[in-house]
Amino acid sequence: MTEQLRADSVPKAPSTAGDLDAALDAGLLTVAYQPIVSLRTGQVVAAEALARLQDPRTGLLLPPDAFIPLAEATGRIARIDRMVLAQAAPLAAGWRRRLGSAPFSIGINLSVAGLTAPGLVDYIRDTCSAANLPPHALTLEITETVLSADDGEDGSVLRAIDDLGCRVVMDDFGTGYSSMSHLASFPISGIKIDRRFVWELGTRGLGGLVGLALVRLGSDLGIDVVAEGVETKEQLAALEYADCPSAQGYLFSRPLPAEQLTAFLTSHRRAVPLPRAERS
Ligand code: C2E
Ligand code: CA
Ligand code: CA
Repeated sequence: MTEQLRADSVPKAPSTAGDLDAALDAGLLTVAYQPIVSLRTGQVVAAEALARLQDPRTGLLLPPDAFIPLAEATGRIARIDRMVLAQAAPLAAGWRRRLGSAPFSIGINLSVAGLTAPGLVDYIRDTCSAANLPPHALTLEITETVLSADDGEDGSVLRAIDDLGCRVVMDDFGTGYSSMSHLASFPISGIKIDRRFVWELGTRGLGGLVGLALVRLGSDLGIDVVAEGVETKEQLAALEYADCPSAQGYLFSRPLPAEQLTAFLTSHRRAVPLPRAERS
C-alpha cells in the first residue's frame, strides 16, 4: 500500500509514441506562461508559452524535458507546437484586451519539425485570425538549429512568417556556432540571451562579459533583446546598467498557469515589478 502511494505521487512520463498520442488526444497538454518584463517601464510586455503535460494519475505537470525529446524522436513535436499556439492565441488576445493600450505579445517555441511541417504559415494565420490576435502580437522563438533547417529551404518559411507580420526571435542566443551570420541573413527582430551568460552577470566571469556584449550587439543592430533566466538582483542590476530592454526569469516570476498569469498581469498593471518595488 505504501509502495502504491509512493508510486502514485510521482508523475510518469510517457515512454512510447502511443502513450504520448493518448495523452495529447486526452487533452493533457497544457501551457504555462512566463512573464517577460520591460526593464525600462517595469511592465509585463510579453509572456512565453511553455508546454507541460499532465500526468492523468497524479494530476502533476511534467516539464518539457520529460516529453519533448520523445516527441521530437517520434515526429509528434510539430503537433505539440501547434497545440500550444492554439491554446495560447485566444488567451493572449484576452490579455491584450485586458491591458488596453499597453503592448503585450506572446512567444511560442517552434521546433525544426514544427517549422518544416507543411501548412505552418496557413495554420498561424488561421489561428491568429480565429483568436483575434494580431500577427504582430505573436513571436516565434526559434533556435539556431531551426534557422539552419529553414536555410535548407531557402529561408522561405521564416520569410513567409515575417510577411504575415509575426516577429521571429533567436532563442538561446550566443550558444550556437554561427548566431551572428544568421542575424544578417534572416528576418530576425530580436534575440533572447541564453541564461548561461545571464547567470554570470554581476560576477567577474567571462560569460557575464559576453552577456553584456550581446546586449550591446542587439542594441547596435536595433533589434529587441530579452535576457533569459534572471534570478538575482545582481543580475538585474547589471542588465539595467547595460540598458537591456527586457528580461525573463524566476526573479520576476516562474512560468504560471493561465489564470495565475491573468492575476499577475492585473496586479502588475501599474506597479513596477517586485524587485524594483523592493529596492525603493
Ligand atoms: P526555452 O525556450 O529556453 O525556455 C526557457 C526555459 O527556461 C523554460 O524551461 C523556463 O521555465 C526556464 N526558466 C525561465 N526562467 C528561469 C530562471 O530564472 N532560471 C532557470 N534555471 N530557468 C528558467 P522549461 O519550461 O522547462 O522549457 C525547457 C525547454 O523546452 C524550452 O527552453 C524549450 O526549448 C522547450 N519547450 C518548451 N515548450 C515548448 C514547445 O511548446 N515547443 C517546443 N518545440 N519546445 C518547447
Ligand atoms: Ca524559448
Ligand atoms: Ca531560451
